[in-house]
Amino acid sequence: MRFSQIIGLEEQKSTLIQSVQKNHVAHAQLFHGSEGSANLALALAFGSFLNCENPSENDSCGECSSCLKTDKLIHPDVTFIFPTAGGKKVLSENFLAEWRDFVITNPYQDYSAWLEKISIKQGNIPVEEARKLIGNLSLKSYEGGYKLIYVWLPEYLSIATANAILKVLEEPPEKTIFLLVCNDAQNLLTTILSRTQRFAVPKFKDEDIVQYLIEQANSEDRAKEIARLAEGNLLKAFEISNAKSDNMHEWFANWMRYCYAFNVLELVPMADDFDAMTKEQEKQILEYGLTIFREIFLTASGNPNMVRLEAKPLEFVNKFSKVFNVNNLSQISQLVDESIFHIDRNVRAKIVFLDLSLQLARLIK
Ligand SMILES: [Zn+2]
Repeated sequence: MRFSQIIGLEEQKSTLIQSVQKNHVAHAQLFHGSEGSANLALALAFGSFLNCENPSENDSCGECSSCLKTDKLIHPDVTFIFPTAGGKKVLSENFLAEWRDFVITNPYQDYSAWLEKISIKQGNIPVEEARKLIGNLSLKSYEGGYKLIYVWLPEYLSIATANAILKVLEEPPEKTIFLLVCNDAQNLLTTILSRTQRFAVPKFKDEDIVQYLIEQANSEDRAKEIARLAEGNLLKAFEISNAKSDNMHEWFANWMRYCYAFNVLELVPMADDFDAMTKEQEKQILEYGLTIFREIFLTASGNPNMVRLEAKPLEFVNKFSKVFNVNNLSQISQLVDESIFHIDRNVRAKIVFLDLSLQLARLIK
């Protein structure tokens, strides 16, 4: 992970970078931030920076062998410890495939998302994990850089586990760094707290979330609304944003089904529905339509790899591309563009929608 991939938090990034440049890297650090904060993301970017073979002034390169391995979470000198179902033989290493997928997909996810991912109700970090770790620490670093031990959610260390790692946490072997990533420092044992250097990760600023959401193709109004509801929690912002796009997709998919079936009985009430939306929402649906039509074209023309969509839209695109008449695509796109233009100029939305629907019904077949 690069620092540049994390929105905002310039001050925190700079502090971490300087600690490396000034050779003041604490050997046990506690990245403390609430759920949906960049605590794990920053710890990961910091780890990449520490072991990067060719770092710039303020970031890891993302291209060297260390960065490539770090990004895939397969670097041999990086250990991850996190809550699991915690039987004696159920250690983090047994869940590495799920963990990699979880973190690479979205490093802002929380404890409950993790439990859901590995289908357990409650997690903890059993003492066997500490024993295994201490065994590994006695080995030399494989690649000559830092050995990094990430403990995600040390809140779930059992007392026995915590006690077992106190000594190495206080005096780790040379070039070994512990990066603890927690949500709730109140729930940490004081013995752990006293052996780590606190690094506070604040919530994201609204303006940074807004900027990010706009880059993700949300309108400015919508981005502001989501950021207000998310309250600095990026995970929540993703969830709100996805839920809305799910609804939009459903609406659009139904519209296309009715167009294809030339179902005027359904299209008329849909036009009323469309008419009741805000101008912004109307334009969003039409713009979304343009994206989907383009993806249908790519799929139908044998370039499905270029399609980057979520599960439901992808399914729709795959099915629809089999019946959609791609020869008319440029005409279709032009009609949708014109409809956006008319809505912008306050032509009655119901008329624009019905007119467009009837033309699409003819062209998509
Ligand atoms: Zn690098």
